[in-house]
Amino acid sequence: MAKKQYAVIGMGRFGSSVASALTNLGFEVLAIDSNEQKIQEVVGLVTHAVSADTTDEEALRAIGIRNFDVVVVAIGADIQASILTTLILKDLGVPKLIVKAQNELHGKVLQKIGADKVIYPERDMGLRVAHHLISPNILDYIELSDDYSIVEMKAPQPTIGKNLKQLDIRAKYKCNVLAIKTNEHMNISPYADDIIKENDILVIVGKNADLTNFEIVHA
Ligand code: ATP
Ligand code: ATP
Ligand code: CA
Repeated sequence: MAKKQYAVIGMGRFGSSVASALTNLGFEVLAIDSNEQKIQEVVGLVTHAVSADTTDEEALRAIGIRNFDVVVVAIGADIQASILTTLILKDLGVPKLIVKAQNELHGKVLQKIGADKVIYPERDMGLRVAHHLISPNILDYIELSDDYSIVEMKAPQPTIGKNLKQLDIRAKYKCNVLAIKTNEHMNISPYADDIIKENDILVIVGKNADLTNFEIVHA
């Protein structure tokens, strides 16, 4: 099978970090930006880099953008350019279109004009930071819906040396421990009598409010 080919448009902080991460993962990545200087900055980090204004349909055709499996649009402040670019890419028949949104309204428009996936890196990072402020134990956080999440947290001090039954997590907090990570070992279906050890990492699913209760009680 051929390597997947990605094009990333907009070499701001987000776009350039996506582009270089994909390159490091072994994919072929074309970086595009209208600013020649930005292109110079990423030349060594990606497979190819070209300067083009992506609101110009002819320029996108000339690049052969349709031949890419996935196109990521990471144009930020210029919302009009982001929307126009997305519209043109959709028209050209790009198979998978992932677009960064600045805010909810921008995101709604992108969805309406056919973006396959809309991402909100600033907002999502904000949520992660907010959780981190509530509890310094939180390492990562996945939003499953508005109300439910999965959190990865350092085992809080008060839980260490106890098992799940003693902590009675499901009954008391309505949260489920999906996994307990000890160093590199993952226990992915913990038993009620599995004991939490110092430096373990817990992966817990639940309602946000219930997860927050668990975090606060064990802070
Ligand atoms: P970040 O927060 O990720 O650094 P940002 O949200 O501030 O980025 P901008 O810097 O506004 O985003 O835009 C990202 C890049 O998109 C810029 O390097 C800019 O040159 C590029 N860009 C803007 N308009 C176009 C366009 N029409 N065609 C190609 N690239 C464009
Ligand atoms: P349940 O009906 O909640 O499964 P149970 O009577 O079957 O309870 P056990 O499976 O032995 O009893 O678990 C005892 C208690 O330990 C559970 O009520 C729950 O609070 C806690 N517990 C066990 N496993 C987990 C888990 N993976 N995540 C969260 N809590 C757990
Ligand atoms: Ca049970």
